[in-house]
Amino acid sequence: QRFNIVSFAEEIAEEMQLMTKQNQHIIYEHTGVTAEVSIDPNLLRNCIINLISNAVKYSGEDTLIQFNTFLTNDKLELEVKDNGIGIPDSDQNNLFEPFFRAHNTGDIPGTGLGLNIVKRYVGLMGGTVYCKSRLNSGTVFTLSFDLMADNN
Ligand code: ATP
Ligand code: MG
Repeated sequence: QRFNIVSFAEEIAEEMQLMTKQNQHIIYEHTGVTAEVSIDPNLLRNCIINLISNAVKYSGEDTLIQFNTFLTNDKLELEVKDNGIGIPDSDQNNLFEPFFRAHNTGDIPGTGLGLNIVKRYVGLMGGTVYCKSRLNSGTVFTLSFDLMADNN
């Protein structure tokens, strides 16, 4: 299925804005070309919703959540960035394991399955997922897909 990544992402950002906390804003920005991509849209949507839900849940009121897409002829990257509680260094290697929750989640509810699903879906789509985080500062999740010839 080929679809325009920008309108696809805008729609998700708008939907997810309805799930935010008080004065939390999702800012969507895109760079690069506005070509169509052929990636499974249902798997990709599910991944983005998981990542944005986490950003909402693990950051406070009055914060920004940045959702960015970068598209070139051979690569698509999607990034979800928050200014939330962050993830302890010692937990960062285990995030994608089923039922894993970091040690700083306190009484924030969750089952620890969302990122495991993201990891598996990204694998099915032939991409990679990467996390960069600083405790008490914020977190970025990046999804990356090599499009190669299929985007032309
Ligand atoms: P759910 O199954 O409802 O998604 P969950 O959010 O706890 O539960 P995951 O989405 O798999 O589970 O995330 C695993 C853990 O990674 C979380 O419990 C949390 O400790 C940490 N985490 C994930 N995203 C973030 C984020 N944006 N900021 C801080 N910690 C995060
Ligand atoms: Mg989650």
